[in-house]
Amino acid sequence: MGADSQPGHIDQIKQTNAGAVYRLIDQTGPVSRIDLSRLAQLAPASITKIVREMLEAHLVQETEIQEPGSRGRPAVGLMVETQAWHFLSVRINRGEINLALRDLSSKLVVEEQLDLPLEDGTPFLDRIVNHVDHFFIRHQQKLERLTAIAITLPGVIDTERGIIHSMPFYSVQSVPLGEALEAHTGVPVFIQHDISAWTMAEGLFGASRGARDVIQVVIDHNVGAGVITDGRLLHGGSSSLVEIGHTQVDPYGKRCYCGNHGCLETIASIDSVLELAQQRMSQSMSSMLHGTPLTVESLCEAARQGDLLARDIIVGVGTNVGRILAIMVNLFNPQKILIGSPLNLASDVLFPAISACINQQALPAYSRNTLVEATHFSNRGTMAGAALVKEALYNGTLLIRLLQG
Ligand SMILES: [Zn+2]
Repeated sequence: MGADSQPGHIDQIKQTNAGAVYRLIDQTGPVSRIDLSRLAQLAPASITKIVREMLEAHLVQETEIQEPGSRGRPAVGLMVETQAWHFLSVRINRGEINLALRDLSSKLVVEEQLDLPLEDGTPFLDRIVNHVDHFFIRHQQKLERLTAIAITLPGVIDTERGIIHSMPFYSVQSVPLGEALEAHTGVPVFIQHDISAWTMAEGLFGASRGARDVIQVVIDHNVGAGVITDGRLLHGGSSSLVEIGHTQVDPYGKRCYCGNHGCLETIASIDSVLELAQQRMSQSMSSMLHGTPLTVESLCEAARQGDLLARDIIVGVGTNVGRILAIMVNLFNPQKILIGSPLNLASDVLFPAISACINQQALPAYSRNTLVEATHFSNRGTMAGAALVKEALYNGTLLIRLLQG
């Protein structure tokens, strides 16, 4: 390490401080410079300098704040300026792509859901770039200054380099989506696994806001989890995931696509749950499930109305997920456990089954304080991408690029 490393180090500090100040203004604004200095634990001169740059770049604005009960001159407060800055949030899932323009407060400007067929002659990368191009052409009238593109999808992803190594529903092999889109549009591109990004979104805008330690379990076509520990997403900067879906719950169970047998996903994924319900209906002729097409909605509705078979199936999911969660509670001691699933339609049946397992199997000192709740957002839409952009503003990486113009 020599003198060469100094400027990089100073840039890093500047980036971190700018991000921290922006976060405080966003979360506590309108806020005075004096309060900012105290909250950020930075010298008033540093605050003045950072705020001046943000004002010049139109990322923050000044407003008057009148202290309650005070008849003196109003103080000057700072607020973030968000409307003139847009980003594109994209979500890719089985057979569909959602594209949305949002402003920097995450407010929706326009959103579209389009088909993305699993089989297509055109390479995956070209298809996504085409969708992005056409979306911008259709909505160029509404577009303010574009700051970034955020993409969330299932699969094995190198989030640092924006490479999609593989996806569950599309034939994709090491596609450099981030680099290609960045070169094509000139703005930074953030790519994250959909469950990780959704976990971040709940922490920033949703059901786990303010909680330091959170486990979020997603039960859908796939089964997975996101973990926030001490306020940070576990594995946030890597391609790893909290792979609870591929934890064995039945050594004699079905073979899973991962190569093992009896993974949680082979028992608790929506498709497996419906398959099991279908099989067991033939042994339970009195079940309400007969006579209507079997869907997640009809299964949950029957369970809520007390149908024994439907309840038994959903309690089974809760017990299997709860068993793995009990181990995770002992590892992470979370304040909150969030469940994101279409089965939340029967949360009255599902959540008590999960809680009962945790209470019986986890360390009492930990399970006592744990709440099981539903996620605020669903596994659709583009709020997960909004979390990636917000995080990049707060950690300074995106903010510094916007300040530099
Ligand atoms: Zn598996």
